Amino acid sequence: MCEIRKFQEGEITCPYCGWKDTDSWESGLNNDGDSDEFECPECNKKFNVIMNIETTYTTTGLCKENKVKHNWEYFDHTTDGKRCKGRKCLTCNEYKFDKETIVKE
Ligand SMILES: [Zn+2]
Ligand SMILES: [Zn+2]
Repeated sequence: MCEIRKFQEGEITCPYCGWKDTDSWESGLNNDGDSDEFECPECNKKFNVIMNIETTYTTTGLCKENKVKHNWEYFDHTTDGKRCKGRKCLTCNEYKFDKETIVKE
């Protein structure tokens, strides 16, 4: 019984000799599940290629709605000639001014 070698790579890879097609996006395969027969330019053997597209999304809810920790960025802020510290959340853009930390000149 002959062993079928399966390759899952970011590039079309010859299952016989390991040759990689660095121009895989020019192969004409565009959609998930598309398949075609290829001939390896290195060993001249034919092999079948099936395209698998894996799409992943990473989502993060905003802190305001999801009550997770704000991603504060601290900055100096001037109100009525007084310098105090403020902070802005880089995720949800909420502003807060820390009155307690007023810095007197
Ligand atoms: Zn080959
Ligand atoms: Zn936030």
